[in-house]
Amino acid sequence: MKRIVLLGGGHAHVHVLRDLAREPIPGAELTLVTPFTRQMYSGMVPGLVAGRYTAEQCVIPLLPLAAAARVPLLETQAVALDASARTLQLANGEVIGWDILSLDTGSVMDRDRIPGAREQGLFVRPIEHFVRQLDPLAALAQDRVLDVVVIGGGAAGVELAMALQRRLAGQGDERARVALVTGGPPPLFGYPQRVIERGLRALAARRITVFQDRCVRIETGALHLGSGARLACDAPVIATGGDAPPYLQGSGLQLDERGFVLTGATLQSLSHPEVLAAGDVATRADAPHPKSGVHAVRAGPPLAANLRALATGGELLPHQPQLRTLNLLSCGNGRAIASYGNWSAQGRWVWWWKDRIDRGFIARYTVPAVAV
Ligand SMILES: Cc1cc2nc3c(=O)[nH]c(=O)nc-3n(C[C@H](O)[C@H](O)[C@H](O)COP(=O)(O)OP(=O)(O)OC[C@H]3O[C@@H](n4cnc5c(N)ncnc54)[C@H](O)[C@@H]3O)c2cc1C
Repeated sequence: MKRIVLLGGGHAHVHVLRDLAREPIPGAELTLVTPFTRQMYSGMVPGLVAGRYTAEQCVIPLLPLAAAARVPLLETQAVALDASARTLQLANGEVIGWDILSLDTGSVMDRDRIPGAREQGLFVRPIEHFVRQLDPLAALAQDRVLDVVVIGGGAAGVELAMALQRRLAGQGDERARVALVTGGPPPLFGYPQRVIERGLRALAARRITVFQDRCVRIETGALHLGSGARLACDAPVIATGGDAPPYLQGSGLQLDERGFVLTGATLQSLSHPEVLAAGDVATRADAPHPKSGVHAVRAGPPLAANLRALATGGELLPHQPQLRTLNLLSCGNGRAIASYGNWSAQGRWVWWWKDRIDRGFIARYTVPAVAV
């Protein structure tokens, strides 16, 4: 009997579970390890923050999906991994062994990268913890006008700034002032210039002040920028990119310079072929691409196929990540910006399109509880 552990309930693993529900792997005993029994879909989080969705509409329940796949779920997380001994140490004190390990645990946020952030910051990851802080923040905005500063000029930071503006300050009385600190470059840096300009216009239309500067320190009621400026801030929302999960350090797996698992085209670890990794936790050595939910979703089918092949002695096939992906950025107000290569568009219809795609993703992996 081959022991297969699925670590993390991310975008690729929900596909693996659905694949297993359709057809079990003969001779395999699987376990899913996840700290949360539901997977919050990050693409819908800005809509949730803006008040367009309930939390239930943005999650894939993992318990029914795992039950349909006949995979027991351990509600805990990995704290250490020994790739040579083939063991995983879990936060609940257990140590479990595996013959094949599949990693889809995403990224984490370093709480000490900005001094004062650990004490003062609202970190967007883990998303489950972040979304629990929204209602208290909205309640506080009813008592007094809040200064909210989103730190991080990538797509998540830009979308969250506009979503928070909509939720806290969007209707009637201005209950919050929202600012965005980008880290230096313009917001949406890395996107085509046309998309950056669309983003800047959308932020300006929502009265969001943009600081192309770095946040160097956070203290109670204020944050400090590299230029020396001091911004009033009641709620610093930290949306700086993801860091590698600490359980990988000392695991013996070959890692990239930032600490993510290096894999080849078959999604196998370069150093330990019995370990597969997909999504943000992995870096493709042969075809580096940005870490994003779109890429994580696309890795689901090849991961499922290659896990099956590895367990049954079949041939593992290469996965070719797409160079161009469709990106849809919500503006918080029922509009969105689309981009694909150098093409871009904007409007209500783009939000409608995004909404359909996102709801479709959730529906595809939602197993009705009655079917369990
Ligand atoms: C607000 C926001 C909006 C975003 N919007 C988009 C978007 O519109 N489009 C896009 O392409 N990307 C978007 N992203 C980026 C996207 O969230 C990530 O690229 C994507 O989530 C990566 O998927 P994943 O499966 O690798 O990891 P995740 O989705 O992070 O899933 C990892 C899972 O593993 C679990 N886990 C974590 N640590 C452990 C551990 N030690 N042991 C066991 N389990 C663990 C987690 O609880 C989680 O369930 C957004 C990010 C944010 C923060």
